[in-house]
Amino acid sequence: MNGRSYYRWILDLASRNPLNITYTPGHLEEVSIPARLNFEADHYASSAQRRLHDVPTAPIPTFFMDEFTFYTPDDGWIESSICTFVEKALILSASKKASAGHQQRMALHLYDSKPPPDFPYTMAYSAYSAVVQLYARSGQLPTADLLYSRDKLNDPRCRAGCQAIEDQHHIFVDCPRYDDWRVKAAEDVHRRTNSKLAEKDVEETERTGLLLAAKSLFLDNDTLWPLHYSSYYLGHIPPFDHLIPKKVGNSEGLTRTRLAHHIANDWHTVSIRLAGRIWGDWQRRMAQTTDTRRRS
Ligand SMILES: [Zn+2]
Repeated sequence: MNGRSYYRWILDLASRNPLNITYTPGHLEEVSIPARLNFEADHYASSAQRRLHDVPTAPIPTFFMDEFTFYTPDDGWIESSICTFVEKALILSASKKASAGHQQRMALHLYDSKPPPDFPYTMAYSAYSAVVQLYARSGQLPTADLLYSRDKLNDPRCRAGCQAIEDQHHIFVDCPRYDDWRVKAAEDVHRRTNSKLAEKDVEETERTGLLLAAKSLFLDNDTLWPLHYSSYYLGHIPPFDHLIPKKVGNSEGLTRTRLAHHIANDWHTVSIRLAGRIWGDWQRRMAQTTDTRRRS
């Protein structure tokens, strides 16, 4: 239990104190002595919160802790369930480790934080898009630059004939081979977003910002993407809530939140499908043409 030692301390103090603590209903209109004392006690307890620097600090009751208690420099003494604590600490440390470096692939705090739709991950017939995303996030898609760095390819340049280095970003965002697919996917996102906004009677003039963002989802864009380059293929979508008009329809709040959620779902779904489609095609072509012989 959290703060277990404090409860033990209070119970100990109560057991050694001759005063008898009894329950008294706290009605303001009551004028009985217990009610007035209760009111006084409430008053001092509440005002103490505003005068923290005047209240002497109580020691941490290590003297009422279990003989062996876990401790970390960041969190102090851990008296809650250690299983839950360790699990959360591991998740936190793994996500911290992944967010720094690795070309910021997992800097999740920069992107839209709405949870992605379940369907492509739990219900889809083939989880290919999810697998591509997992490999992309881990930086393990066998692109030419990766194969080259592992000495399995002689040239890190794009195998479709571009002069650029073939990394994940090149294939998914820059390589002209997939320009048409990206344009079509952007039109799809644009159409879906526009019809969602129309459903909520958003004026055409107020749709511009969001529709422009929808069209730029698969392009490097300084104003839309936090790191200036598109990372749709990692399953990220850029923050866009500020582009939704404050007043959606006749109501604020819930309708707006729902609209944002639906738009995020659309953007995410189209993004991971496009990434899956591109990688599927790339892999098929490269399997036919690439010589990945070992040199050892
Ligand atoms: Zn290329």
